[in-house]
Amino acid sequence: MKLPAFAYHRADSLSAAVAVLAEHGGEARVLGGGQSLLPVMALRMSNPEVLVDVTAAPDLHGHEVGDSVVVPAAVTMRTLETDPAVARAHPLLVACLGHIGHVEIRTRGTVCGSLAHADPAAELPALLLAAEGSIRLVSARGSRQLTAGEFVLGPYTTPVAEDEMVAAAELPCLAPTAGWSVREIARRSGDFALAGVVAVVDTTPDGRCTSARVALFGVAAAALRAGTAEQVLLGSTLDDEVLDEAARRAFDDIEVIGDLHGSAEYRRRAGTRLVAGALREAAARATAKHREQESARA
Ligand SMILES: Cc1cc2nc3c(=O)[nH]c(=O)nc-3n(C[C@H](O)[C@H](O)[C@H](O)COP(=O)(O)OP(=O)(O)OC[C@H]3O[C@@H](n4cnc5c(N)ncnc54)[C@H](O)[C@@H]3O)c2cc1C
Repeated sequence: MKLPAFAYHRADSLSAAVAVLAEHGGEARVLGGGQSLLPVMALRMSNPEVLVDVTAAPDLHGHEVGDSVVVPAAVTMRTLETDPAVARAHPLLVACLGHIGHVEIRTRGTVCGSLAHADPAAELPALLLAAEGSIRLVSARGSRQLTAGEFVLGPYTTPVAEDEMVAAAELPCLAPTAGWSVREIARRSGDFALAGVVAVVDTTPDGRCTSARVALFGVAAAALRAGTAEQVLLGSTLDDEVLDEAARRAFDDIEVIGDLHGSAEYRRRAGTRLVAGALREAAARATAKHREQESARA
């Protein structure tokens, strides 16, 4: 189907972009990579009168790699995925990106666009939760910084106001001894996940869990933290029994969704096995990092 008619603005800066949003209010939408917005418009599920393309604004390019990876709105997934500095600083981020669609989609799709779109089956909102990242929202009125928990609200729902845009996402790097894993089940490579998990655990050198962040995606109305599983892990020695118990409890208090791609029962059952595998992998990585540190000291 052809796209409906719309006015197109190519913003040459963040302030120019938010000025257009302020002028047109609810009639305007930010255009990132267009990998979700344009199909939705072609299907007439959204009909904005004005699109503000932010991908050519120089001040919305140029990610920073330090204690966090800071990703401005115009940075594509592929730009991050192919940057060796990002791979060194945040391998979990690169692993998550590798699960998203196909290279062609990641070459145009932006990290901030994916977060703003807030698809319940998307990897990046779960990563934002598991990394305890934050989002910088900017409008002509000013800016505000939201935590992951404040930003990831519901299916395709965020607190971004009509005149605001996501200016940048901040994804803190993991602690040096933290282990991580991202796993998902999809019908075909590149499809959205039927169930997915991003897990981060940190331990003492003898394996006691000091930090656990387990974020699920594709299984509920939005990405969310598996709080009960995290409580099972925290303070425990991460042996197989504890990891399996955490996986069994991962879906406690979660309203698991079912649809034509997979029933709620399937997602819960397959998801439990997925979480068990991810927790084992994350715990094994944490152990390996402690060993590396010990041998470096010896
Ligand atoms: C075949 C296919 C497979 C895919 N598979 C996956 C997958 O497995 N996992 C996954 O996560 N995604 C998947 N996607 C979606 C893809 O990742 C999208 O590109 C991404 O979610 C949106 O990024 P974008 O930059 O293209 O945003 P756009 O499509 O441009 O915008 C999406 C929405 O976000 C808003 N928006 C964009 N940028 C901003 C901003 N800076 N501030 C405020 N609002 C903004 C837009 O107004 C729009 O409402 C797939 C897409 C396709 C076509």
